Amino acid sequence: MRSKKSGGQPSFQRCVACDFNVFDEEHVRIDCIYPLNRERTEWNCYCNPSLGGCGRVVYGRTQSEIAKFWNDGDTSEVIV
Ligand SMILES: [Zn+2]
Repeated sequence: MRSKKSGGQPSFQRCVACDFNVFDEEHVRIDCIYPLNRERTEWNCYCNPSLGGCGRVVYGRTQSEIAKFWNDGDTSEVIV
């Protein structure tokens, strides 16, 4: 067990910039929250503009890390 919390995937709140919900539906989640490399050591949460988001991106090393950054309102970059 690597995770201290039970239940696996961390939850993501609505985007602080545009109120888009990146976490609501699975087809949205997989286009917003995904690993950037094959080793799954880099992740991003992307407020995907093609789905109605604002382009805000948060980078991190794990899903838990990007969830924390995302929910804290951090922004690594904006890609539109
Ligand atoms: Zn957004």
